[in-house]
Amino acid sequence: MVEGSCLCGGVAFAIEGRLTGIQLCHARRCQKFTGSAFSPELAAKESSLRWIRGEELITVYEAPLLREPPPLRRAFCRVCGSPLPTPLEGTAYVVVLAGVLDDDPGTRPLGHIFVGQDAAWNRVDDDLPRFEERPPPEFRIRSTTSTR
Ligand SMILES: [Zn+2]
Repeated sequence: MVEGSCLCGGVAFAIEGRLTGIQLCHARRCQKFTGSAFSPELAAKESSLRWIRGEELITVYEAPLLREPPPLRRAFCRVCGSPLPTPLEGTAYVVVLAGVLDDDPGTRPLGHIFVGQDAAWNRVDDDLPRFEERPPPEFRIRSTTSTR
């Protein structure tokens, strides 16, 4: 089991099931949401997520649709702004940003995606696979869940 919580501690959750590898997303929207160079995303079955406390503090922002549904949706703590697990519409998964986990998820980064939108000040200099845009299906965290 892996636990996670927000910056103020008002919201806490536990994930009982398997977590996918971590996808480092450099899309502009992920930069905006995290205030960082990329968003370290992993996924878990929604049914394996349990809120320990503070579910009432969760606010969800739904971004305007850019290309195709589903729209980007981001959950966060309305007190401190930390990103929180967000259901991936149309799937049985939630997306979690690794930085809010309190334990080692036991998985590691799979690669970089949307590096075509990378910040001018960032440098990607590891040996992980990288994709200019959306990765092929086998690199998406949603599909790695079913193959692990
Ligand atoms: Zn909080």
